[in-house]
Amino acid sequence: LSGTTDGMTATDKEIERALRPLSFGDFTGQAKVLANLSVFVQAAKQRGDALDHVLLHGPPGLGKTTLSHIVANELEANIKMTSGPVLDKPSDLAGLLTNLQPNDVLFIDEIHRLNPIVEEYLYSAMEDYKIDIMLDSGPNARTVQIKLNPFTLIGATTRAGMLTSPLRARFGISCRLEYYDAKLLTSIVQRSSAILGTPINEQGAFEIARRSRGTPRIANNLLRRTRDFAQVKGNGTITVDIAEMALSALDVDHNGLDDMDNRILSTIIDKFKGGPVGLTTIATACGEESETIEEVYEPFLIQEGYLKRTSRGREATEKAYIHLGVVPTYKTGE
Ligand code: ADP
Repeated sequence: LSGTTDGMTATDKEIERALRPLSFGDFTGQAKVLANLSVFVQAAKQRGDALDHVLLHGPPGLGKTTLSHIVANELEANIKMTSGPVLDKPSDLAGLLTNLQPNDVLFIDEIHRLNPIVEEYLYSAMEDYKIDIMLDSGPNARTVQIKLNPFTLIGATTRAGMLTSPLRARFGISCRLEYYDAKLLTSIVQRSSAILGTPINEQGAFEIARRSRGTPRIANNLLRRTRDFAQVKGNGTITVDIAEMALSALDVDHNGLDDMDNRILSTIIDKFKGGPVGLTTIATACGEESETIEEVYEPFLIQEGYLKRTSRGREATEKAYIHLGVVPTYKTGE
C-alpha cells in the first residue's frame, strides 16, 4: 500500500499506465498548477520555443510523472524518462541530451538524488543548451563543446528541500502538487473504474477515495484490490459494503490510515510518551527507512494533524491519541 512503485508487478504497472490521464482536460485536481502549466505550454508552443524547465515537487503518487507526460503530449514533443540515481556518469546524461529533438522533454525523476558531477553538467545544458565533454585523460585531455537542441527538463522530486540552490535556480517553473480531497479522488476512482470496466456506485467510490491518503496512486491501488473483493465476495459491483470489507482486510482503518501510519503513531505514543522523538529513532522502532517515513508517511500525518514536527523531534498530537484510543499520560498527571 505504500505510495511508491516498489513491489509492483508487471500487470500492476500496465494497469497504472492505462489509468494515466493523457491531456490537461483528463487530469483531475491540482487546478492552479494545471492552469499555469497550460498557459506556459501554449505560450511556448505559439513562439516555437522550448518550454522553460519545470520542477514538480510533492509526495509520491500525486501525479508528477503523469503531468510530465501530459506536458509533453500538449507540446506535441517526445519525452525521454530517466531518474537521478540511474544517471551515474556525465556520459549517461550526454547520451540522453544529444538524442533530444528540438523542444523535446527530458524527465528526471528523483532529481534530488543526482550525482553532483552529473548535476554540474546539467547546469550548462539547462542554461545554454550545450555541454562540455572531456575527451581522453592525462596530458591528452581536452574538452569539446557539444551544442544541444533546445529542450525542456522536467524534474520531479519528493524532497524539494534537498535540491542544491544552483539546480533549483535553473528551473523557471516550479509547481508543488498537493494532496487531493475526497471529492476529487472520488471522481478519479470513478474514472478508473470506468476504464477497468468495474461497476461502482457513488458511495463505494467515495469510501475508497476518503481512505486513500489523499493520493491517486493509492486510490487506484485500493480500487483494484476492492474490485477483487467485489468479484469474489459480491456480485461484481463495488458498493460501500464491499469497499468496507476490502479496506479493512487491507488494514486501512476508518480514517484512512494504513498499517505503517498507525505503527508510527503508536510507537511515538507507547514507546516515547508521545514524543518529541527523533526521526531515526522512530524509523528503527518501526522497522522502516527514515527516508520513507519522511517522504511518504509523515507529510500526510502532519497535514491531517496527527503529528507535529518540532525542533526537538516528532510529537503525537491529541488527535493521534484520540485516534488510537489512548489516554495521554501527561493529562492524567503520571
Ligand atoms: P508521481 O510521479 O507523483 O509519483 P504518478 O504520476 O506516477 O505520481 O501517478 C500515480 C498514478 O496515479 C498514475 O497511474 C495515475 O494514473 C494516477 N494519477 C495521478 N494523478 C492523477 C490525476 N490527477 N487524475 C487521475 N489519475 C491520477
